This record gives sequence, structure tokens and C-alpha cells, in this order.
Amino acid sequence: MVVTSVDASGPVVVVQARTRSRNPASCTGCGMASEWVHSRYVRQLADATVGGRPVRIELGVRRLYCENPTCAKVTFAEQVPGLTVRYQRRTPLLQQLVEAVGVVLAGRGGARMLSILNIALSRSTVLSQLMRVPFPPLTVTACPPRSPRLRPPGPSPPKQGKPMPGRLRVRLAGTRGGCSKPCTH
Ligand SMILES: [Zn+2]
Repeated sequence: MVVTSVDASGPVVVVQARTRSRNPASCTGCGMASEWVHSRYVRQLADATVGGRPVRIELGVRRLYCENPTCAKVTFAEQVPGLTVRYQRRTPLLQQLVEAVGVVLAGRGGARMLSILNIALSRSTVLSQLMRVPFPPLTVTACPPRSPRLRPPGPSPPKQGKPMPGRLRVRLAGTRGGCSKPCTH
């Protein structure tokens, strides 16, 4: 990628860049590299702020022909790793920030926090980005058998309901999780 200009004179920092013409790009359908250019166009990408100022990247990219005759795609748009994602108007860095704020603060609070960071997004946009975040994988494990406990001397405590047999512990990966109520592990 070649950066051709940086304009920091306005409220938004504008970076103009383009991909190199002779570098082959991988087809998004089959992965085969191609240098057969169909056309060029400019993508507008919002990036994370610099010094509290929003950044817009105007990136000139190529649309190329796929040279694999068995591939279903005739043309494809090249992607720049770490900077562009298909159908995404934010850089991965900004997208991760929006998703993280959405997970912690949800729609209204997330939009307010992002506005403090000078990232203007509506409540519904933050919510829609939150809905894109995949759930962590579930792990299901059986509880180990209960170990006998010594009862302190004195009157017996009042009897409570018997624990349910066949208890399962369900937790999200990366969380501490806990047993359901009848289980005391
Ligand atoms: Zn292809």
C-alpha cells in the first residue's frame, strides 16, 4: 500500500492511499492470485481516532478478474490485510473498538462512550454491531461427586430440599461460571 497524502487541516484527518498495481491479489472465492485488473475504485474507511480526531482513509483498490476457470467468481475486489474487510466501512481496529464498547455498554451507553472518543455512531448502529459479535463457545461438564463434609457440633441445621440428580455445569469459555442452584460445587 502506498500513502499518497495526509490532510490534517480539517476536523477529520484524511489519508489518501492506494494499493500497488503490480502486486497480485488473492481471489476471495478460490484464493488464486491474480494480476488481471478489471477496474479501480476508491473505498472510504473510517479508522480509529488520532489525537482525538476522526480519521478517514480514502483507499484506491483494484477489482480484478479471477483467472481460475472453475471459480464461481468472475471478478473480485482486493482486500488489504489489517485494513479492509469485505463490505466493511471501518478498519478492523475501529471495528474491534466499537464491538468492545458495545459488549460492555450496549447501545445507548456505547454510543455515548464512543461520542466521548469522537466516534459518531448511533445507538442502533452500536447495537447492530454488538449483534455481530459471536458468542464464545459453550462447554458442558458434569459436576464431580460431592465430598463428605464434617458437621460442626451442635444442633442440626434445618433440612433443605434434596439436590437434584444429574446436575450439569454450563459455562461460557473464558468465564468462571458456576453450578445451577441445587449443586453446591
Ligand atoms: Zn476465484
